[in-house]
Amino acid sequence: MEKLMDAIVKPEKGPGLELRKVPVPTPGPGEVLIKIHKTAICGTDVHIYNWDPWAAEHIKNPPMTIGHEYVGEIAELGAGVSGLEIGQLVSGEGHITCGHCRNCHTGNIQWCKNTTSVGVDRDGAFAEYVCIPASNVIIIEESLPEEVVAFFDAVGNATHTALMWDLVGEDVLITGAGPIGIIAAGICKYAGARRVVITDMNDYRLELARKMGVDAAVNTGSESLEEVMKEQGLVEGFDVGLEMSGAGAAFNQMLSVMRNGGKISLLGIGNKPIEVDMNLIIGKGLTLQGIYGRKMDNWHQMSYMVQGGLDLTPVITHRFHYTDFEEGFAAMNSGKSGKVVLDWTEKK
Ligand code: NAD
Ligand code: ZN
Repeated sequence: MEKLMDAIVKPEKGPGLELRKVPVPTPGPGEVLIKIHKTAICGTDVHIYNWDPWAAEHIKNPPMTIGHEYVGEIAELGAGVSGLEIGQLVSGEGHITCGHCRNCHTGNIQWCKNTTSVGVDRDGAFAEYVCIPASNVIIIEESLPEEVVAFFDAVGNATHTALMWDLVGEDVLITGAGPIGIIAAGICKYAGARRVVITDMNDYRLELARKMGVDAAVNTGSESLEEVMKEQGLVEGFDVGLEMSGAGAAFNQMLSVMRNGGKISLLGIGNKPIEVDMNLIIGKGLTLQGIYGRKMDNWHQMSYMVQGGLDLTPVITHRFHYTDFEEGFAAMNSGKSGKVVLDWTEKK
């Protein structure tokens, strides 16, 4: 008889999610079945929950299980899988790449032109089990805290964006104190930045960023960033900018406070095209780098940073059992949240 499991499913095109019984997937050749311990809710999952224009464009075939931030253990190996063992603690790279395009061939799989995503294009990890290709499995050392590994996917975005540039002794501006901006702030401090300044208009999130150790958390709706720069001893502007809001206003403000020759990495995804003063970019000789996903090496870097003392627990604000997932999404939608972690072990 077919084995069934609980899964958080987008039942049809439209708002909402449903906890349903669905078949446990069977790992095909080269695939691995993972038993989920913990998951975390990403902004993408909230788009899917709310069924905004992004979700309507990207979720093609409901019903499907969503979710892509998780930690679990290997439950079963498909035919031909070697080098992995049942019971190993793992997470998974959520982008499944083609392996034959130019970027895949040259090790830049984050730029694969045929990439598909777990929990968006195929069944995801908000379930008791998820099935992924063996090459996407990331072995996790057992000393790492599982509730942090649960959102390593997002930590990877932050790692990729932050470690794009030299940070030692540099002054960094992060626009957007969402979970990824706050995590990036912790990484910049850990990696040796002199000052880390973060902006947002959401005081709850700015307070979380302070807990992560930023030098200044600025509400740009009511405070002057230039004043804060003076207080922090900045002379010529920020050396490094990490755009993590997706808001045109934030990016334009960043351009105005960068020093000549500054470096910017862009992670935030806007919901519409933005207007930019190109002359500022040219006149200041700025370097801009778009960031998509994470590099496989980021998985190692973040594991080692956490083992080296980077504490990411301040960004966790809510913990629920998966059966209470509605409360988790409500917390995310309230704006008064950092990371929301769902437990998939048996309810105590
Ligand atoms: P989030 O939406 O939770 O956080 C964005 C924050 O930006 C919010 O707190 C919001 O209040 C703030 N903000 C809005 N306008 C602002 C302004 N003018 N100045 C300063 N702050 C402003 O998002 P997140 O989950 O932390 O992710 C960060 C961004 O990265 C999002 O845009 C997300 O879509 C994007 N993202 C991109 C990738 C990628 O591969 N490129 C991957 C994951 C997430
Ligand atoms: Zn490819």
